[in-house]
Amino acid sequence: MIVMMLFLFAFGSAIGSFLNVVIYRMTRGESFVYGRSYCDHCKRQLAWYENIPLLSFLALRGRCRTCHKRIDASYPLIEAITGVMFVWWYLIGFTFFQLARAPFTYLQPAFWLVVGIIFILVFFIDLFKYVIPDVLVVVLSVLALMYRSALLIAGIFQPYDYWMAIASAFGFSLLFYALVRITKGRGMGLGDVKFMFPLGLILGFPQTILAVYLAFIIGAVVAVALLVARKKKFGQVVPFAPFLILGSVLSLIWGEPLLSWYFGLL
Ligand SMILES: [Zn+2]
Repeated sequence: MIVMMLFLFAFGSAIGSFLNVVIYRMTRGESFVYGRSYCDHCKRQLAWYENIPLLSFLALRGRCRTCHKRIDASYPLIEAITGVMFVWWYLIGFTFFQLARAPFTYLQPAFWLVVGIIFILVFFIDLFKYVIPDVLVVVLSVLALMYRSALLIAGIFQPYDYWMAIASAFGFSLLFYALVRITKGRGMGLGDVKFMFPLGLILGFPQTILAVYLAFIIGAVVAVALLVARKKKFGQVVPFAPFLILGSVLSLIWGEPLLSWYFGLL
């Protein structure tokens, strides 16, 4: 089990290393394919041993070997998060998301792993660049719709839940669109409107409401903290997708206890 965990962590951080490349390309529009192959500062080509997930960063103590400038901490952070996600998926997620019937015994956990990977991409791309690439929204929407439809056809998902998931997707996208129009884009942007569509499909009802509610609370807390810490001025843009993703993850994993606790307070 420990060996398997270590293997999955290493494998996950290697995937995370690849996600760094995807994020780099999607935020800076550069056209190299073969990894983060050079230093961000001195542009020196990196040797293979400077590109090992996490280990290179630790061995180099976070600095470039030649120009000694800091390597952006987001690289090892994304590698570590992806590694942890793979281990979590193995220990808890696999049984958590697993339905007893074939072929969903493997399809379902695999689906959620892909959702996790896309969440990591959207989280950091929006955080760095304040955009959510359309291609990720489309891929996530198609996957979620196929997955939900397959469950419906197999009789695992009830028609009521299926249509409520679709209604959540359209309903919350429309609500966000109205918010964007009312605030003239100073709050969230059109990217959030589009991203809300696959989130509604994935979360269903009533978890979508909980996820959006949590996103607004976490977003407000972080915005106030940034203002107090003077990292942001009032009215400055704060990306919203990271909060939507945090809200969605909380809602997916602890949705039921959170909802019953909340209604227990009333
Ligand atoms: Zn350098």
